[in-house]
Amino acid sequence: MLDWDAIDTVLLDMDGTLLDLHFDNYFWLHYVPKNYAKFKRIKTYQAWAEIEPMMTAERGTLAWYSLDYWTEKLGIDIPTLKREIAHMISIRPHVIEFLTFLRESNKTVYLVTNAHSKSLAIKMEQTKLDPWFDKLLVSHDFGLPKEDPEFWSRLRKIHHYDPARTLLVDDTESVLASAQKAGIKHLLTLLQPDSRKEIRQTGLYRGIHHFDEVIPNTDKTIL
Ligand SMILES: [Mg+2]
Repeated sequence: MLDWDAIDTVLLDMDGTLLDLHFDNYFWLHYVPKNYAKFKRIKTYQAWAEIEPMMTAERGTLAWYSLDYWTEKLGIDIPTLKREIAHMISIRPHVIEFLTFLRESNKTVYLVTNAHSKSLAIKMEQTKLDPWFDKLLVSHDFGLPKEDPEFWSRLRKIHHYDPARTLLVDDTESVLASAQKAGIKHLLTLLQPDSRKEIRQTGLYRGIHHFDEVIPNTDKTIL
């Protein structure tokens, strides 16, 4: 259990943390190659052979997360494709309970994502999670991805938080590592960001399967 009295700001990642990463994995690994193949009149495996090295080259950069970048690079309308399968976007179990607990305990709650603003908009339209946050923050607006420790300093200059009293929950280890370098004290990862994939072993950061594991027992029934 986390020491909630020692935490007043909670930074939450979106994809793979609040939302099932299955959508994003399905989208980029199946839906994009399938539509790129149709557009180029090639086989899906040929499409993937073209796309994969492009993605590998940009992994962890702002371009990698930019829908505009991929729309231009691949010649297919990525936001439109996302909307076509937006019904597949889903909130992970116990997320609403967790957000309710944070609200009731007066924590400052920021959504902090590397996702592109167009992707964020589609996901908020679909899940209606936005009212739960004090702010929705997109790393593109800070000019650096969350993987860069400098990102957290830039964030702090604009939206004050005390790193020693802040919790970050994020399913990406390189993001947790950069936050740790920037002094964020409480760090938590997710053991199964994609519900269709196996549970991960994680050594470096404390991992939870679902958020119910960190919601204090508020059952006040007197027996
Ligand atoms: Mg994530």
